[in-house]
Amino acid sequence: MQDIDDCLIQQNDIHFRELLTALPNVSVQGYDKNRRVIYWNKASELLYGFSEEEAMGQLLEDLIIPDFMRQGVIEAHYAWLTSGEAIPADELELKNKQGQLVPVYSSHVMLYQNTDSPEMYCVDVDLSSQRKKEKQVEFLTQYDKQTGLHNKESLFQTVKILAHQPRSEFDSRVAIFIGIDDLTQINNVYGYEQGDKVIGQLVSRLKRCIEPTDFIARYSGDVFVLLLTLNEHSDQLEHTIARLREAGRTPYRLKNDLKQVTMSAGIAVDVCDSEHDTDLLKNAETAMNHAKNMGKNQYLFYQSEFDNQLQRSYTLLSSLTSAPENDEFSLVYQPQFNQSGQVVSCEALLRWYHPLLGNISPAEFIPLAESKNKIKLIDRWVTKAAILQIKYWLQQGLDPVPVFINVSGQSLCDISFINMLSSQVNESGVPYSAIGIEITEYALISENDMLIQQIKWLQNRGVSIALDDFGTGYSSLSYLTRFPLNFIKIDKSFVTNAPDNPQDAAVMKAIFAMSDSLDMKVICEGVETQKHLEFIKSQSRHSLLQGYLFSKPIAPTEFENMITTSNSEDVIN
Ligand code: C2E
Ligand code: CA
Ligand code: CA
Repeated sequence: MQDIDDCLIQQNDIHFRELLTALPNVSVQGYDKNRRVIYWNKASELLYGFSEEEAMGQLLEDLIIPDFMRQGVIEAHYAWLTSGEAIPADELELKNKQGQLVPVYSSHVMLYQNTDSPEMYCVDVDLSSQRKKEKQVEFLTQYDKQTGLHNKESLFQTVKILAHQPRSEFDSRVAIFIGIDDLTQINNVYGYEQGDKVIGQLVSRLKRCIEPTDFIARYSGDVFVLLLTLNEHSDQLEHTIARLREAGRTPYRLKNDLKQVTMSAGIAVDVCDSEHDTDLLKNAETAMNHAKNMGKNQYLFYQSEFDNQLQRSYTLLSSLTSAPENDEFSLVYQPQFNQSGQVVSCEALLRWYHPLLGNISPAEFIPLAESKNKIKLIDRWVTKAAILQIKYWLQQGLDPVPVFINVSGQSLCDISFINMLSSQVNESGVPYSAIGIEITEYALISENDMLIQQIKWLQNRGVSIALDDFGTGYSSLSYLTRFPLNFIKIDKSFVTNAPDNPQDAAVMKAIFAMSDSLDMKVICEGVETQKHLEFIKSQSRHSLLQGYLFSKPIAPTEFENMITTSNSEDVIN
């Protein structure tokens, strides 16, 4: 009878082992009462890296148990043998042949428990791919896929955690919001791939600007947030800002061009008041938005007035669209003189009278409109109004000088704007030569084919093209040769400073010399004093003059009187 039983047990044993061996993804190991390996299936080899030959006879704790678990495993096995206390199934991290930790779900059975030869079998299921997926899910919820930076959710969580961390009453926390100024434009002009390249390079630069303990997150497509904790007396913030500015000055290579990509930043500092951490983010964001509304490319520390100004910006933006139909816009004209005192052209400048807020300076609402994609509606209105004004002057029998209008790069890239302009010209009978267009350097840096084509198209029909604010911002002389320009307008900051500042004087002299050889005329803006005028006259007899010394921008009726008398001869000569 005993023989038959033994035989049956042996047969079951064989079936059992065959079954275990056949399980491809389930690692099964058998251990004797001294925890030496007596069974090691193929899946164990795959999971832990030891072949059956290498594993057989080895001690469990020497083979796959990490050091920190070693004593616990020996004791648990002993307890099972002596008091029948089974080792519960659990998720563990065991060690493979390379010494790396492998996540497994491990369950255990004890066979022949009450005999001299108890055998413990461990059944381990590999959890690596599950863990990997979990990590991916965690990554997706915590990190930005494109840059690998923390995402917005993670930023908020971190701020919350920081808020509950104790800190010295002298420590301060700082949030810096950094926005790329014109990512949409880069995407439109160079394509998304190049836009992504800018983001990638910017992220590397930002990482180099901060300390390893600082936190960096991507807040939205073109906005990044840095969180710093500063000790009292630390000058880390100054250093970080200096490094950020330096990083912002380095151009980016986009296709074959080197491009300057500017950033606007808002900085908020919170000195030891943990309750206001969300304000810290809100304030830094407000400061960044303010920097953008102020014309971009600047770093601003948050001030509480920004909240009111932001409120004002919203009010302005929401009333901007209806301003034309409510007759809130008007144009004034600032004459441009030759050095004999004759009015040779003029610049149309927009004025906005808001019913509640009164006169709003274009220096305030134009940058705002540009940043919120509302500039095209302004450009359309100004162009139509200026052409109608020229038509009126022609009908009155006046001989009007060319009127320069300020047009944004966004409109000039847009075929519908050019169509609108040409149909206005055709309908009104105003010649193209009566119109000038001022574009900024910024519009040119995009070097958009469409923009160049449209400028050429207009120029071929007689429209004068002037480059406005020359010398500010991007100042690459190279595009002066590449673009079809008739006029360069030297920015008023040069005119103001040149008489006393040798560097500005040198820049102006260079522009005068270059414009002669390129056959472009120069208009000096912001001529306010006799001293400015003397300097210009000493350098160039041909450049044109615009500024308060001769005339402020004036209403159309006043301008009519002026062009009939050209009354600045006394001032100029
Ligand atoms: P801008 O195109 O550089 O226009 C010249 C600005 O300088 C005008 O300010 C003009 O009034 C001012 N200015 C002229 N001479 C002097 C001077 O001797 N001293 C001083 N301190 N300032 C002088 P404004 O009219 O306030 O316009 C500011 C800016 O707003 C313009 O700068 C232009 O960028 C924008 N803007 C104005 N009108 C329009 C428009 O119709 N369309 C577009 N897109 N932008 C406009
Ligand atoms: Ca202008
Ligand atoms: Ca200007």
